[in-house]
Amino acid sequence: MSDHPKLCIGIVGGGIGGLALAVALTRLNTTDTLQVDIYESAAKLTQVGAGITIWPRGWEIIRELGLEDSLAAYICPGQEIAKDNQERIGFIYRKSDHPENAVMCDLKFRGGSLSFHRADVQQVFLAHISPSVRVHLNRRLVSYRESDGKMQLSFKNGETAACDLLIGADGVNSAAIREARPLWTGTIVYRSVIESDIIRREISDHPCLVKPLVYCGKNKHVVSYPISAGKLINVVGFVSDPTKEGTFLEGPAVMSSTPDVVSSFFTGWSEEVKCIINNMSNPLRWAIEVVKPLDKYGYGRVALLGDSAHAMPVHLGNGAGQAMEDAYILAHLLHEASKHPKIDVANLVRVYSAVRQPFGNFAARASLEQGRLYEFTELDDVREGDVLAPEMLTRLGERIADGWRWTWDSSVKGDLQRALSMLQ
Ligand SMILES: Cc1cc2nc3c(=O)[nH]c(=O)nc-3n(C[C@H](O)[C@H](O)[C@H](O)COP(=O)(O)OP(=O)(O)OC[C@H]3O[C@@H](n4cnc5c(N)ncnc54)[C@H](O)[C@@H]3O)c2cc1C
Repeated sequence: MSDHPKLCIGIVGGGIGGLALAVALTRLNTTDTLQVDIYESAAKLTQVGAGITIWPRGWEIIRELGLEDSLAAYICPGQEIAKDNQERIGFIYRKSDHPENAVMCDLKFRGGSLSFHRADVQQVFLAHISPSVRVHLNRRLVSYRESDGKMQLSFKNGETAACDLLIGADGVNSAAIREARPLWTGTIVYRSVIESDIIRREISDHPCLVKPLVYCGKNKHVVSYPISAGKLINVVGFVSDPTKEGTFLEGPAVMSSTPDVVSSFFTGWSEEVKCIINNMSNPLRWAIEVVKPLDKYGYGRVALLGDSAHAMPVHLGNGAGQAMEDAYILAHLLHEASKHPKIDVANLVRVYSAVRQPFGNFAARASLEQGRLYEFTELDDVREGDVLAPEMLTRLGERIADGWRWTWDSSVKGDLQRALSMLQ
């Protein structure tokens, strides 16, 4: 046991980022020196949406956090955890806004991508959090202030709490960030899961049963991949209005929709796409909003983590991956700092921000550019349904593959070492 008082960490938000931080702190055995409290606005911990894909750069963190074996139970047929240098499928890209699919690229790389149901990931995270981490539900942060070297938190239900370091892991509409409202990307997504057997009955060898797919088209695209060990197919249909990019969203960000509405956007598309889209039930309509790039991911006794710092378009499937990177680095900084009798919280936040802000902002920018390739945004002359020359599609496919490269051929480890050396 340590004989100096425990530093109190208040994590606001129990989404993937907040939970990843709690797992990482548990893994580093910091419970002697830190008291960790999670304040979540919802009445129970849930994950909205179904699918989540993790890439080699993020999987390295999963492995470091000791979660690999538990998550392996949920891996889908055709996917496997890389133990060698063999290349595996990431995503298959086709132009499909006409009756025949046209090849763009088959993204392959060492490791491949691994797709999960969010609820499974959440259960695995929760099972790896120390019992000493206190989870407080129904606590919506509404305001905070610094007083006597402590952060005083006020919640919507009238309760208050205090901590030494406030971690804003409360998503795109964060109460911990004092900047402007999030911006709309101009894109609406329609999300649903389908039982694999339903697709199998219609097209027995439909590639979506075993492969991650992106069907591209003008100002629209469809992503699908198997989850839950192949029992379900996760589907997301994207519909964009590029003229609305960077505006403020009017109305709610998330609401229910109907299968007919979703089908109406994809009537001229290939049979493979229509089979998926027409079988979506209870689709959720979701406006993709982003955080305007921030100069800093923290100030004083407040650190921003995950979507609150860098909510990004979803086109590189990396918002959660980046949240895990934030969590991994912050946990190591806290672990290192907690070895000393007095922790300089403001310096720790400065180091965290200096290391994470450039990379988080890079990932957000890269995601935005990637989506433009999927939807032919730069090609003003291209209309929905146009058949493009194979060479042109190959070139676009090469740019798409290049855009993904950092997610498998780079590592967070270098940034971690840099952060730890800056703390000295
Ligand atoms: C269609 C779609 C597909 C995606 N696919 C992928 C993918 O394949 N791979 C990937 O890495 N990422 C993906 N993402 C992005 C990923 O979902 C997010 O980046 C990630 O969930 C962010 O985690 P977070 O913990 O920062 O925020 P959130 O998951 O939003 O969690 C925030 C939590 O804070 C709580 N909260 C909110 N406000 C308050 C408050 N004031 N007080 C207390 N609690 C509060 C919320 O209830 C929630 O539990 C996708 C996103 C979308 C929309």
